[in-house]
Order: sequence, then structure tokens, then C-alpha cells
Amino acid sequence: MNATPEPLRIALALGAAGVPTLPLRQGKVPFGNCRACADGACGGRPNMKSAGPCQCPAPCHAWAAATTDRHVLTSPAWAPAWRQAVAVAYHPGGAGLTVVDLDNAAAVAWARETLPATRTVPTTRGEHWIYRGVMRSSNAVRPGVDVKSLMQYARWLGPGDGRILAVPPAVRALMVKEDTTPARGGVASSVPARATWDRTVAAGCRHTERYVRTGLERGLAMVRAHTESGAGSQAFGVARFLAAQHAQCPGPCGLDAMGEEIVAVAVLVGVPETYARRAVANGLETASERAA
Ligand SMILES: [Zn+2]
Ligand SMILES: [Zn+2]
Ligand SMILES: [Zn+2]
Repeated sequence: MNATPEPLRIALALGAAGVPTLPLRQGKVPFGNCRACADGACGGRPNMKSAGPCQCPAPCHAWAAATTDRHVLTSPAWAPAWRQAVAVAYHPGGAGLTVVDLDNAAAVAWARETLPATRTVPTTRGEHWIYRGVMRSSNAVRPGVDVKSLMQYARWLGPGDGRILAVPPAVRALMVKEDTTPARGGVASSVPARATWDRTVAAGCRHTERYVRTGLERGLAMVRAHTESGAGSQAFGVARFLAAQHAQCPGPCGLDAMGEEIVAVAVLVGVPETYARRAVANGLETASERAA
């Protein structure tokens, strides 16, 4: 009997369910590239960031080789890798998923406090939190936290438990890299010039001044409350929330001025200005995308 290696058996089952996989070797890492693909001599695969012409039949180029195709998975070119494989990885982005990879107990505790509960898979020291939807991947978005979706692989450790939620804004906000060590004393070197929102910059707003001002003050208070960390994410959330309030206004509503106020408060509680600006800009943009 020529038994199918266990990792390949898992890969075939996942492939049938639409999840692209690849084998992992000793050390739980992808197999190295073949000689033709070594040092990028082949130009890389067409699905890679800098697209190349590589049609290598071997499982070269890590996540980029991940496939659901059983003919590829069972091909002679992949057979040696499966025989040595110790585990299976999948390409979350290719399966329409995002994995928040929490490396340790502290990261898991942070997620439980911060992110909406979704399907979780236990890992060696932490957990994978699985969300539906794809996004850019990024390592170390916080201590012990990686986001794995497009152009990344994650170890397959079983289907996990719980209902899968759509990627929440709190996870998308992580993409704006947060500086988790605010300036000592809580005040950064430079505080941006304070532009304030008033009626004169909001000629096309259908809301009352009181309504806008109340929403803005509430948002600023939320950012101000995050003196330790998380103020950047909060700034993103507040910007998104405020912009959404004006999705139906003919405009202008003075969103830029509101953004400036959020940036100023975020900087005051220790968020680096460039990061605060990016978080707020992304928040305003995310809301307008949803409105469009
Ligand atoms: Zn190759
Ligand atoms: Zn190649
Ligand atoms: Zn408005």
C-alpha cells in the first residue's frame, strides 16, 4: 500500500473546500525554491506582488504556490515535498479569509478585549482568529499580532470553533501601524496647529451645528481616553464614524477641520503625528467608500 501522506490528505480535503494550501517542511516553513526559481531567477509567479512568468511545477515561492487544484497537489513535482512535509499551510487571502495571528497569551487577551469574537483556532502558544474577507497582510501590527490574508500563508491547525464574522473595522485599523510606546509624559514634540470645525467650513451640511459639535466632542473624548495605547485606532474609528454621519449631506461639511481636531487630540495623548494623520485620513476615506 502506498499511503497518502497525512499533510497531503489534509491539503486535498481543504482544496475541495476551496482553500489553497502548500506543504510546510521541518521548522514549519515552506520548502525552498528549486534551482530554476532560486534567487528569483524565474521572475516569480504571476500572482506575486511583482508579477513574473514563473510556471514552475514545484511548490516554489511559498504562499504563491498554494493551490486548490488536486492535479497540482498530487503531481510528481509536489510529491517529494509532501513526503517530507510536517504540516500544511493555507493562503488565507486565496480562501477569502483574514487570520489575526495572536502569538502569545498577552496578544490573545488584547484580542478578547478589542476585537469582536469570531472563529478561533488554538495554536502552540496563542490563537488564530479567523475573519471573512481579505485585506493586506502585515506583521507585528502590535506586539505578538500578525495579520495574514493576501500574499501570506498561515499554518493549518484545524477548522476551529465559532461563527466566522466579517473582518471588523478594528482589524482594518491595525494596518495603520500603531506606535505602542507613546512619548514620555504623553506629549509629543510637536502638536499640530489646531484647526477647529465651525459652521463656516460646513456650508453644505444638513445637520445642526449642535449635532455636529456634540458628535465631534464625544469622539474627541474617546480618543483622549486612550492615553496608554489604542488612541490611533480610536482616532481611525472616530473619523470613520463622524464621516459616516455626513454621508447623506450635499457637502462640504468641514470634514477636514474635524479630522484636524481628531489629529490634534491623538497627538496630545502620544500618537505620533504622521500615524495620527494616516489613521484619520483612512477613517474618513473608509466611511466615504461605504457611502459610495
Ligand atoms: Zn521552482
Ligand atoms: Zn519560480
Ligand atoms: Zn454634513
